[in-house]
Amino acid sequence: MGWKIFVSFIFILLVSSLLIFYWFIPFKTIEFGVSGGNSNFNLNNKSSNMQFYQNMRYPNSRISYQIYDCPLQKENDMERAFEIISEGSILDFYPVDSDEQISVTCDSKNKMEEGLFIAGEGGPTNITRAGNFNVILHGSILLIRDSKCETPNIAIHELLHTLGFGHSENQNNVMYPITKCGQTIGEDIFQLIDELYSFPSYEDLVFENVSAVMHGRYLNVNMSVRNNGLRSSEKSRIIISADDKFVKEIDLDSLKIGYGRRISLGNVWVSQINVEELEFFIDYNLTELEKKNNKIILKIKNK
Ligand SMILES: [Zn+2]
Repeated sequence: MGWKIFVSFIFILLVSSLLIFYWFIPFKTIEFGVSGGNSNFNLNNKSSNMQFYQNMRYPNSRISYQIYDCPLQKENDMERAFEIISEGSILDFYPVDSDEQISVTCDSKNKMEEGLFIAGEGGPTNITRAGNFNVILHGSILLIRDSKCETPNIAIHELLHTLGFGHSENQNNVMYPITKCGQTIGEDIFQLIDELYSFPSYEDLVFENVSAVMHGRYLNVNMSVRNNGLRSSEKSRIIISADDKFVKEIDLDSLKIGYGRRISLGNVWVSQINVEELEFFIDYNLTELEKKNNKIILKIKNK
């Protein structure tokens, strides 16, 4: 009996550290003219995965950032990149002095890889799996090369990495691994952003792995509840009923995005003799992404 912090904590740590890997996706500089044509991320209407993982997004469509000690041109490029993405999508970026979601730093030292200069690096650095979403809690951008283009393509490219986008095979697209001034963002990137952020930033409490056994009039229950939403949940309670009669109520603390809690109950006395159905209900007053998953019904196996 008693509360245990769910294993998800360890899982989140693991995922976070794995994702630091993406920070090291370099972007190389070399300039040529662009030969015109389709500038979408995906070539020939082939819909490949545009993101590192499925459904990557920040918790909210308003995303905070902070730019650390960058020379004026790079700072302007970065701010222009934030503007361009917010003009083309439902996203909105705003500067903060601490706890930013996207950190931007600069480095003036040239870096080379395979004979090409690296223009910048960027990617999500902290991701939490929550239901259908891979929620990005933090991303980082490092700007290395000055942009020589009219549009700040290097800053846009790195910003899109921090939004979860990978590299495109289309050399006209800004996510192509080698930068050219004529590259553009393409409509399909904006479309995917708008689709992902069309889900409001609500919490979503769900049951996972509920099991129950009756020994005579005594009930043993194992269950876990997780927040698969896009915002921390407030306090809630779990109500257990047997054939529509109240059995027990359990208070549940606030759960962060992707966090869960395992609950084990032993020897809960049930007044009825023959119970056929047990209902578990998460009683939560605020709006959720989905309310249907707040209830689970079990047919009891008598022992
Ligand atoms: Zn890149």
